[in-house]
Amino acid sequence: MKSEYDVVIVGLGVAGAYASYALAKAGLEVLAVDIKPYEKLGDKPCGDAIGKHHLDFLNLTNLPPDLVEGYVRGIDIYSPSESVKFRVTGDGYLVDRIKLVHYLVERALDSGLELMTKTAAVSPIVKDGFVRGLVLLREGRSVEVSAKITIDASGNARAVARRLPSDWPVSEELKMVDSNIAYREVRKLRDGVEEPEILRIYVNKTAAPGGYWWLFPYSRRDGYVNVGLGIQGGRGYGDPKTPLYRYVLSREMFRNSELIEAGGALVPTREALSSLVWNGVAVVGDAAYTVNPVHGGGKGSAMISASCVSEAVVESLEIGRVDAESLWTANICYMNNYGIKQAVLNVFRVFLQELPNEDIDFGMSRGVIREEDLNALSLRGHLELSVVDKAYRLVVGLRRPSLLLKLKTVSEYMSRVKTLYESYPQTPRDLPAWLHRVRSVLNEYRAKILGAS
Ligand SMILES: Cc1cc2nc3c(=O)[nH]c(=O)nc-3n(C[C@H](O)[C@H](O)[C@H](O)COP(=O)(O)OP(=O)(O)OC[C@H]3O[C@@H](n4cnc5c(N)ncnc54)[C@H](O)[C@@H]3O)c2cc1C
Repeated sequence: MKSEYDVVIVGLGVAGAYASYALAKAGLEVLAVDIKPYEKLGDKPCGDAIGKHHLDFLNLTNLPPDLVEGYVRGIDIYSPSESVKFRVTGDGYLVDRIKLVHYLVERALDSGLELMTKTAAVSPIVKDGFVRGLVLLREGRSVEVSAKITIDASGNARAVARRLPSDWPVSEELKMVDSNIAYREVRKLRDGVEEPEILRIYVNKTAAPGGYWWLFPYSRRDGYVNVGLGIQGGRGYGDPKTPLYRYVLSREMFRNSELIEAGGALVPTREALSSLVWNGVAVVGDAAYTVNPVHGGGKGSAMISASCVSEAVVESLEIGRVDAESLWTANICYMNNYGIKQAVLNVFRVFLQELPNEDIDFGMSRGVIREEDLNALSLRGHLELSVVDKAYRLVVGLRRPSLLLKLKTVSEYMSRVKTLYESYPQTPRDLPAWLHRVRSVLNEYRAKILGAS
């Protein structure tokens, strides 16, 4: 172990593995630590789906074929009664998450990464307003490690970020209502699934309040599916496993299916941290709340945040600085490549979580909400209602005035939040004033949506 590293990374999920790969490749002296043993790195309950556009952005297009467990051509979204389904098109993969993490870590090791598994980050070392390294626990002994920059990629543990001063934006805690508790099983079905390259999402407030249940076939593994259910946290809705068994696994298609794997975890479903960086520290992936708030997919955006942070770290170290201002380009990069869309989708998430089953069924079956709306939403984070559409939706929607009103409100606030995020501050000095404006708009919006439900 060296006396000082350029960077120490806590956690080797996809976010930490991607950062290790990018930073070691750039020639920096990097130490990565994870509590888990090497063979368990990347082993976390997941739906395993990832959009191709993320891998393209990350230059991971040519993944070895043995990492790919399934190809995806689109997602069918079912209404609560399952009488209507919308297809959102788009290419993607089901990826073996353990192999993906090992693939990235092995490349990082080839470029000189130093790796410590079975090692826990206990606390950051903060001196003169900067993070200067970490206290680690390894083989029962406490060890101090110095680093110019510390990256927290520890997922929900937020092992570093949660122990930083409360006035640093990276330390902002997650409210449970801004999370989903998700549980999934990998099962082998007796019979295969039709159209195995189509993922299925079922929105149903009875089975999955504030979330949804899903069925993702592994098209390259005959008869294997990933089936799971997520429920909004902090609302007393209970655990996701019970409704998964009651409403989903009781269906005929799962009879005599074989359980291969099971597990659950918390998923942050909100806008990203207002800053991924501060003095001597950066936060990436779930630890920075980078997950898509509507569908809960977080691997692609976790790696995008790691990529943006890595670029900023390399540039800052080149000029010998590690302060928030010099690292700020990480925020600009993340906002431009995912954060703006994520913040806009978060506005939609709050609306969707409050919508009763009857409104969703009505909206989807009568054309008040349409397939093209969901395609635009998933691609661009917009809810685009054309003028002609508006007139039609108005006539039909008048039978559900509260739905119409909420749709108008959500569309208006999605635009306002987009405009605000497009003017994300260029320096840390301007962050408090900007954040104040964001919070007051979001509070106003929540009062309208939650007040109207
Ligand atoms: C049931 C479920 C289904 C999901 N489905 C999908 C999906 O289909 N597609 C998708 O894109 N996303 C999905 N997600 C979300 C996705 O799994 C996460 O967004 C993503 O894995 C986050 O990666 P990460 O690297 O930020 O964190 P993690 O994968 O959580 O990695 C954190 C790492 O930090 C380590 N660590 C923690 N504390 C410490 C410490 N003190 N010291 C050292 N190491 C530490 C852990 O051991 C772990 O290896 C799903 C999540 C769940 C729960």
